[in-house]
Amino acid sequence: MSAFFIFFEKNHVIIISRMGKIARYLNQLTVGNVFDSPEILEAYSTDRSVLKIKPRAVAFPESTDDIRKLMKFCYQLAAKDIKTPVAIRGSGLDEMGADITNGLVISTEKMNKLLESDRRERLVRVQAGITLRELNTALSVNGLTIPIAGHGDETIGGLISNYPTDNYAHKYGGIMNYVERVEVVLANGDCLQTGLIRKRNLERKIHERTLEGDIYRKLSKVIDANDKIISELKKRQFDKTGYVNIAYVKNRRGAMDLKPLLFGAEGTLGVISEVILRAIPIKKPAGRVVATFEDFRMAERFLEFVKDLHPLEVNIYDASIAMAAEETGKRLSSIIKKIEDGYIAIAQFDSRSKSRIKKILNIKKMLPRSTQIITDNKKASAVFEELSNALTSYLNSTKDGERVPLLTNFYIPAENLSGLIDDLGVLREKLGLDLALYGSYATSNYNLRPKFNIEEENFSKKAVAFLRAGAYVIKRRGGSLAGGSPEGRVKAIVTNDEVPPKEQCLYLEIKAIFDRYDMINPDIKLGTNTRSTLNHFRTTGSPKIMI
Ligand SMILES: Cc1cc2nc3c(=O)[nH]c(=O)nc-3n(C[C@H](O)[C@H](O)[C@H](O)COP(=O)(O)OP(=O)(O)OC[C@H]3O[C@@H](n4cnc5c(N)ncnc54)[C@H](O)[C@@H]3O)c2cc1C
Repeated sequence: MSAFFIFFEKNHVIIISRMGKIARYLNQLTVGNVFDSPEILEAYSTDRSVLKIKPRAVAFPESTDDIRKLMKFCYQLAAKDIKTPVAIRGSGLDEMGADITNGLVISTEKMNKLLESDRRERLVRVQAGITLRELNTALSVNGLTIPIAGHGDETIGGLISNYPTDNYAHKYGGIMNYVERVEVVLANGDCLQTGLIRKRNLERKIHERTLEGDIYRKLSKVIDANDKIISELKKRQFDKTGYVNIAYVKNRRGAMDLKPLLFGAEGTLGVISEVILRAIPIKKPAGRVVATFEDFRMAERFLEFVKDLHPLEVNIYDASIAMAAEETGKRLSSIIKKIEDGYIAIAQFDSRSKSRIKKILNIKKMLPRSTQIITDNKKASAVFEELSNALTSYLNSTKDGERVPLLTNFYIPAENLSGLIDDLGVLREKLGLDLALYGSYATSNYNLRPKFNIEEENFSKKAVAFLRAGAYVIKRRGGSLAGGSPEGRVKAIVTNDEVPPKEQCLYLEIKAIFDRYDMINPDIKLGTNTRSTLNHFRTTGSPKIMI
């Protein structure tokens, strides 16, 4: 104890210096490295969010055993009221600041191994830090895949914890469909494997005098005591706030599986160390279609029609996004007609259909003459690639500001999208921001990424005003701010005020069951403190490419 200087922050006692000694101690304890050099702390102080929080140390465990030792160490300190907040980090792509901390970052970057595979059963066992690209490359040798439209660098642990509604989710259901079992290191360093435990075996489990036993016993009681709230949560399929998946932990026969609870938990309940996934056969690309519209209502008619043709994905972009890319040298207008005001729809298919092109050409006859539709050919292929690059250059253009993620991945029901677009027109005038909408029509999740001058003194005020105004119109149109991915630290500024008190109690109880000392990612979800979050808004540009 005498080796540490400590100070108080938001009810936590945090070790602030002599971290060198801690890094040294942890390095002796684990096979992986623990660093506290200024350069590494700086590199792990940002993710893809608008926030910056410098950690005291960054650990790179190489095995479940390493993670267990790290967690046990922090737990023992916490038991002595010396709290070191722990944040778990995959590739650091989080847009809501849920993988940064002023304590210890546990990065799973070195836990990227494929441990076992069973080709016949199409099962793989992996370490949680394997990326989607690494996993799918390995699976492709056997003609298999995990069908997620994600950034290739996303880790499996990050995907489970962030549980984004990806652009293929309409067709393939998202990451939860492909995860069979999860191994989690709990707050005290114990290990838990998820799996369905039938009622008679549950009796045995809940009498175990371990944290795992405690979790099953207490959660079972909490679920029974909150059955009304939980049945309401089941109706809320398009909102990832809190621990909504608690609704799927216990079935009507009294059997329990903790797996769903980890989806969208944002690393607040434990560290995912290993995962067993079931892959599916790869399907070959089977065609694309791109269409431009001068009016959203025409685009909507087309999008609705294409959605019924069982596409892999259907996306829509405000045309200004594509046109802005021209500033960076992209030549989209040489392929697609230049439209000042309008929308570009793009769909991709992975199932063959002879009649599809015919049907698409038929609908063209019903659309205004100004509509341009390009179907399967080399030209369409170029447009597809160019458009996705156009979005990257739009998001990364830093001239006169940065397109920080605030209103990303929100849900709007299809029938209210045109209403939202009307509201955005009003908001655009009021806030003086460029509100170009883009997203997935198939999953109804959208994004707005206006530019902000983050060096401006009142940047955080402006950003929060935009977040609140956007959240208001999203709610007004029957949508949800955390519809496509959970609230993290940033959206929590708004969502925490909207979670009904009884639901808040339920979530706080769940968190306390797993993490009695509130040491794992304590400052996100309901743990977010708005003032502290605002104090952590970045004032310099992010080194991360926004894709
Ligand atoms: C269509 C789409 C939309 C997206 N929209 C959003 C969005 O709106 N908001 C957003 O934040 N991101 C969004 N993303 C980004 C993305 O979902 C996540 O950031 C990504 O899934 C996490 O990958 P990562 O490995 O970088 O994890 P990180 O970004 O490092 O971590 C993400 C979260 O998972 C936790 N975590 C990571 N690894 C583990 C582990 N092993 N055990 C326990 N917890 C862990 C972290 O603590 C953190 O809370 C989107 C992605 C896609 C494909």
